[in-house]
Amino acid sequence: MIKLLKMKEKIKPNFKFAKETAYKVLKEANIHTFPIPIFDIVNQVKTLKVLSYKEMSDLIGISEGDVAKILALSDEGAIGTYGKNRIIILYNSDISEKMIERIRFTLAHELGHLFLDHPHSTQNSILSRNSITNLENKTFEIEADFFAKELLAPSFFVNKIVPLEVSEVSKKFEISNESSKYAIENVVKSINYGGLRLNNLTPPTWFSEVFNKFKFIDRKRNLNLVGMTFDNENTWYPTYKKIVYCSECKTIISINSEENHQYCTRCSSSKNIEINEKNYFRFHEMEEQNILNYTTLKVDNDGRLQDKCPICENENLQNNYCSICGVYIINECSGKHDVVYENGYVEEEESPHCDKKLGGADRFCSMCGAKSSFFVNGLLKKWEDEPF
Ligand SMILES: [Zn+2]
Ligand SMILES: [Zn+2]
Ligand SMILES: [Zn+2]
Ligand SMILES: [Zn+2]
Repeated sequence: MIKLLKMKEKIKPNFKFAKETAYKVLKEANIHTFPIPIFDIVNQVKTLKVLSYKEMSDLIGISEGDVAKILALSDEGAIGTYGKNRIIILYNSDISEKMIERIRFTLAHELGHLFLDHPHSTQNSILSRNSITNLENKTFEIEADFFAKELLAPSFFVNKIVPLEVSEVSKKFEISNESSKYAIENVVKSINYGGLRLNNLTPPTWFSEVFNKFKFIDRKRNLNLVGMTFDNENTWYPTYKKIVYCSECKTIISINSEENHQYCTRCSSSKNIEINEKNYFRFHEMEEQNILNYTTLKVDNDGRLQDKCPICENENLQNNYCSICGVYIINECSGKHDVVYENGYVEEEESPHCDKKLGGADRFCSMCGAKSSFFVNGLLKKWEDEPF
């Protein structure tokens, strides 16, 4: 009987510790923007591996459903230990199942377990979301939730939002409406209690320097890219458009094109990824904010220039050549490509070209990677030389 009481006392959630740990993480990870770039934190923890269910499924060859059921014991996310002091976080990143805000919160929650050292303070090898089995786990869940809330939307920052409304808080911190409502309620309660409650409205002194550096950024979010559409009830459904993204020159190469992009048409790299509902989340968090656009000339379906000639500004274009400067005005595969020798010497070689007509931003052929005629003839600049 007495033992049980003692036990209960010991496993009371430590809110103060959870909150201060969240601020320490923000400080040490050198984070200064809202919404919090969560992978900036993840990538700074050397002993941590974070994989989506899809990535884990690809890695070990079991279905995503089995990753959720057997490994994570949850359809949201989980944290576990492996090897010597190694930590793994698994999370469901499928935006046709979970809203982006919810996925962000799940990741922050799992990071909470990590930084609050839960995996090492329990006998359980996996801590899963929504599968509370005992009091200890329940305490850990409450602490991790509190950590996540204070990591993504610290109370004293929420207090600065004008107007202090759910939609505004949700947008500024990229957290769900539910979390935003909870955050606002806490701030209002704190104000009513003279700022003395747990979510007090003044940052700790050691955090004030960091506090002053923070700024809010408008985060790009193009759910239409992956074909996520919201209906009237504000629920979303997938429509699966095919988006190809190049991680080298950071541009969207194509939207909804049936074409197979072997090579990036802007930089000729083969590091092209297809963005879909399974990997959009990581793309959104890590890449979407830094997408670049390159000069695009207007062409018709046959690759024929529709704008004025970029070399001589002649506006009257007919046939296949500019009538003033004589440049070829059809963008197609030229078959030419650079060969770089070991000593750094570059030589242009020509192979039979593949007859592919190209788009108005294409410096390279998507099929064979050779230079486009626009690029060879100087109508389009090298992607690295574009001014940004
Ligand atoms: Zn948890
Ligand atoms: Zn590229
Ligand atoms: Zn011309
Ligand atoms: Zn080609």
